[in-house]
Amino acid sequence: MKFANSDSDYRSSKYVICGVMFDGTSSFRTGSRWAPEAIRKGSYNFEPYDYDYDLCEPSVYDMGDVEFGNVNDMIAELQPTISSIIKDGKVPITLGGEHSITLPCMKAFAQEADTTAVIFDAHLDFKENYLGNKFGHASVARNVFELSIPLVQIGVRSGSKIEYERARDDNAFYTMSQIRDDGIGEIIDEVIRSLKTNTIYLSIDVDVVDPAFAPGVGNPEPYGLTPLELRTAIRRLAPLVAGFDIVEITPDYDLGISAIVGAKLILDFIFAHSNSHLNLT
Ligand code: MN
Ligand code: MN
Repeated sequence: MKFANSDSDYRSSKYVICGVMFDGTSSFRTGSRWAPEAIRKGSYNFEPYDYDYDLCEPSVYDMGDVEFGNVNDMIAELQPTISSIIKDGKVPITLGGEHSITLPCMKAFAQEADTTAVIFDAHLDFKENYLGNKFGHASVARNVFELSIPLVQIGVRSGSKIEYERARDDNAFYTMSQIRDDGIGEIIDEVIRSLKTNTIYLSIDVDVVDPAFAPGVGNPEPYGLTPLELRTAIRRLAPLVAGFDIVEITPDYDLGISAIVGAKLILDFIFAHSNSHLNLT
């Protein structure tokens, strides 16, 4: 099964969808390796680009899934896959899998050009080591930061005292309380004003969304974004985005709704990116 209406061949495509069936470091509710299939299934719920605009039809190729036995293999082998997509001038859209898959994607971008990682996540993911693993999904932001890649985190509401101290010293993050006080639009405008790079890599950990809207995630965390707030953010950032991933959906823990939310966010990203001239809000 291919992601909704992704009927381009590789050569003529602008967007390349890659599923990563990996959840080897997940600790609490595992099963995100089944998310790519569930997201594709969910994508058929929608009209492909159901908006009242004069659209540029995006060309999307779905390369299917890749699978890895352990986190070290995943990091080593996913990076060249993403690199070749970037070198061919295309935008990779990577479907997790757990959040650890963002590190090799981000490394692939860092090799090409200065790029800021913008991560939407309920969690800081700044653990030095979790359950004996430095490259687990709870350390992905720290690992990106340690590569000296500029990092912005949005929607944060969970982390240990040590993580908050490290993150506060090291990078910019915006909490849900700040988003409630200032509004998501103002926060995103500030992120864009503060950028020191021309492009961003956008990573969406779906647990940034409130569990009322997306309960099927590995580590649900109350007091989150609405899907509509996240769409506003994605639309504003889309013109700057060179690569995108969506991670941590665990289909076994709901009736398909989180995968459907994920599919809609991907459609919205592709729509906003391919129609950047519309200045969507
Ligand atoms: Mn995460
Ligand atoms: Mn998270």
